[in-house]
Amino acid sequence: MNCQCGEVVTPGLLDVFKARQWLIDAASPLDSIEDISLDSAAGRVLAQTVVAPLDMPGVDNSAMDGYALRLADYHASLGGAGLPVLQRVPAGAGVLLLPAGGCARIFTGAPVPVGADSVVPQERVTLDQHGHVHLEGALVKGANIRRQGEETCAGTQLLAAGEYLNAASIALLASHGIDTVSVKRRLRVALLSTGDELIAPGALRSPGQVYDSNRAMLNVLLAQAQCDVVDLGVIADSPHALHHAFDHAQSAADVVLCTGGVSVGEEDHVRPVIEQRGGLHFHGVAMKPGKPFAFGYLDAGRFSVTPLIALPGNPVASLVGWQLLALPFIHVMQGRRPMALQRYSVKAGFAKRGPRGRCELLRVVLDGSNEAPVAQLAGGQGSHMLSAASQAHGYLMVNADTDVVEGGDYVYYPISQFAA
Ligand code: AMP
Ligand code: MG
Repeated sequence: MNCQCGEVVTPGLLDVFKARQWLIDAASPLDSIEDISLDSAAGRVLAQTVVAPLDMPGVDNSAMDGYALRLADYHASLGGAGLPVLQRVPAGAGVLLLPAGGCARIFTGAPVPVGADSVVPQERVTLDQHGHVHLEGALVKGANIRRQGEETCAGTQLLAAGEYLNAASIALLASHGIDTVSVKRRLRVALLSTGDELIAPGALRSPGQVYDSNRAMLNVLLAQAQCDVVDLGVIADSPHALHHAFDHAQSAADVVLCTGGVSVGEEDHVRPVIEQRGGLHFHGVAMKPGKPFAFGYLDAGRFSVTPLIALPGNPVASLVGWQLLALPFIHVMQGRRPMALQRYSVKAGFAKRGPRGRCELLRVVLDGSNEAPVAQLAGGQGSHMLSAASQAHGYLMVNADTDVVEGGDYVYYPISQFAA
């Protein structure tokens, strides 16, 4: 990653969408590429554009179980003895020649015999005692035939570089006989929590101690985002411990993700440590929850530096910071195109005093039993309250200094969009 130090650190709080764009612009895609088997390519990012090796479909084939025929033969047989079935074409058969004066029994996916120009679904056919075919209704030339190359012609682009390989894109590649793909190397992310109060789930807890839930959550989110995690555990609230951890993190990973200690109290050492290392780019985003968010570089000044994303300690703030800000940065580093945020308007089923000086992302559930979906609060809205976050379908975004009015329209962000 090229060093971008020297840019101005924004004073005050940064607008959330500006911060998101700043992160997207700052991220450099990984260079490393590897060739892997299609079997293990799910969730990986294509490193090169894939060109279709084949026409798709490969031959004209039937879209139905039915009868392939020449329209002219059908018209000639109307009101008469019907058409004799002279051929049988199951899927996997070669391309046959339709015998004159008759039709072919054909099955879905089977090559349409040369000479046939229509397929009639079997539901529209009556067979008489001689096994001759009689039809009802009009018949259109070309009906129920999937034409060779109608989806893709050999030599055209199948998938673009930067495409995330989901189940359908894996199937698309497989359908062209491709079994190896060139993908970006998996991103390595060093993860650490900071806080003297933090202990591991399962440990005996003394009063005042807090279980480290953020690292549990971020491990899951990083795995969902197809990252390899270098988990550095809990780091004490001291500049020395942080420097030591960051030294380790930057040698082991492409990006460093930390949580906690990034606010402005005396016990918050992340910002001063990044500043000492010369790489703070911005600190503080105008959103609730999620204000104490920082972005910078470790050992800025050298030719190659490691980006650092510092998420808040409050668990819901950490979650929102990941979803809105860290994830698009990670996607660009992985070689993906950043996803446009999916949002739409829903009605609020509650009233609430608005946030002061920053936008608020309320954790809500959608009640779909009405004509238009109505958002209800998913539970307590404190940035430390994971219960509502665990139940929420999405976020209702409320602009700074704006009260929520019951029945009013607000922008809604489904949480499902942040899944990968
Ligand atoms: P901080 O950002 O370090 O000031 O922490 C803010 C709040 O989040 C405090 O109540 C911390 O105890 C809590 N917190 C910080 N880190 C974590 C974590 N990894 N897991 C759960 N809670 C945390
Ligand atoms: Mg702390």
